[in-house]
Amino acid sequence: MFSDTIFNDEIIRPTRVEVDLTTIRKNFNEIKKLIGNVKIMPILKANAYGHGLVRIAKLMEELKADYIGVAVLEEGILLRRNGINIPILVLGGIWGNQIPLFLKYDLIITASSISKLKQIDEIAGQLNTKAKVHLKIDTGMERLGVHYYNSEQFFEESLKCKNVIVDGVYSHFANSENSDLTFSKIQLERFNQSILFYDKKSLPKPIFHFSNSGAILQLPEANFDLVRPGLLLYGVYPSNEIIKKVKVEPALTWKSLVVYFKVIKKDSTVGYGMTWKAPNDTRAVTIPVGYGDGYFRSMSHKAEVILNKKRYQVVGTISMDQIVVNIENDSAYNGDEVILIGKDEDVSITVEELANWAGTIPYEILTNINTRVPRIYKE
Ligand SMILES: *Cc1c(COP(=O)(O)O)cnc(C)c1O
Repeated sequence: MFSDTIFNDEIIRPTRVEVDLTTIRKNFNEIKKLIGNVKIMPILKANAYGHGLVRIAKLMEELKADYIGVAVLEEGILLRRNGINIPILVLGGIWGNQIPLFLKYDLIITASSISKLKQIDEIAGQLNTKAKVHLKIDTGMERLGVHYYNSEQFFEESLKCKNVIVDGVYSHFANSENSDLTFSKIQLERFNQSILFYDKKSLPKPIFHFSNSGAILQLPEANFDLVRPGLLLYGVYPSNEIIKKVKVEPALTWKSLVVYFKVIKKDSTVGYGMTWKAPNDTRAVTIPVGYGDGYFRSMSHKAEVILNKKRYQVVGTISMDQIVVNIENDSAYNGDEVILIGKDEDVSITVEELANWAGTIPYEILTNINTRVPRIYKE
């Protein structure tokens, strides 16, 4: 049983996510090949982009990832409680009450302002320990961090903190998945200027890092000492503008089973709001998945699923727990496998397609497949 789902081995919903760990392993190695002698911090926030935080972290540890990145304190604590021992950086912002927990669980804190840095130093001192931090420089994302034009003072202050170990300095791209890299290059230049501080003062250098998936693919000059791949590790490209120069494949398949078959009489309507009317007597099946699992309601009247190597239309409004699929003149039986994301030989439905139907991006599709859907791992 995995601690990040509510299921155990005996109770498996027909609707489930299968994660191919061999594929993630290959993706990791392909990224490593591309970056060469640079450290790697796989990003496992939001339940490892829906793939299951703890299991993916175990795989990353086994593959000798240098660090793991998560977004919030609780994700880091969950990993420590499940025996993950490699360095973990929490990327998100912090507030005071959380600092003792970061220290207790040996999690690296993102220090995003001088006042937070001082607070970390003070609390670490009181607890008679040292806090590991990465200093966050804002080069244009305007989300977290000290602005690049104030970074010198930030670095100076960090040298005065006796209970803080500055393990890293990093920034984040606002638009690295765009084919137009003009702003990314401006951000990179700002970061390069900031970190000159360490050279100018002849100080030992912490680990510098900047690149997410988009930059790993498009801006190798931003690799520095370490890269932070998220989406790419799971085999999905951050946008379709990007040249696919690393051979990664999607690791996640979202499946269900037919639980009901019926014939809908001509002119009967399907589902809430009666938004779809059968033009003829229509053969249809019901599948136990809905927006309560993360199968977005906004995909209604657009989504398709795969059944017996063929794509079929989802009809009517997507409910919380069920969808209805028009199987035309074909037949299907209870227990037949249905693919929501994935492929059956040469017929496939990608995360990108779901994102288009829902009017969103692949990131949001993956991170919204919620914990009601059990994750099954295949090697
Ligand atoms: C989410 C995130 C990443 C990973 O982004 P991808 O586009 O998924 O590769 C890297 N760094 C930070 C700070 C992030 O928040």
